[in-house]
Amino acid sequence: MTAWMSFDIAEAETEYTHCDCCRAVTVRAHGDLSEGQSFLGLYTVTFAENGDGHPPLIILFLGDLTETAKREDAWAVRVEWRPEGLGVLDWDPTAKASIAKFTPLDRCDVIGTPFAERFWAMIDAIIMKDSRLKRFH
Ligand SMILES: [Zn+2]
Repeated sequence: MTAWMSFDIAEAETEYTHCDCCRAVTVRAHGDLSEGQSFLGLYTVTFAENGDGHPPLIILFLGDLTETAKREDAWAVRVEWRPEGLGVLDWDPTAKASIAKFTPLDRCDVIGTPFAERFWAMIDAIIMKDSRLKRFH
């Protein structure tokens, strides 16, 4: 069993933008995810600064994220953090087709697979260890 404690995060840039749909001030917290000495990937957590509106959205990018990497060497999963719990979101099919730098994983690519347990432990590590997310605990 993989516990979330075995993953470490490093907080990176905090970006302030406006939501595309409602223009609310939106915080995008960037970070790195690692396990021991191994770099695993990057994440962003996007949420409304005032705490209202859309649930926080976590996007986790795993694998080889260097410029020269191929699409099949990196993966990304989107997770919505609703009051009732976390849920993997499908990608918009149009957006999915235009993504060249990584393979977008949908809900069915994660849920019920051998990867799921490790994946949720990574998400828990982000939630538990990133100080910018303490407000949601
Ligand atoms: Zn909005």
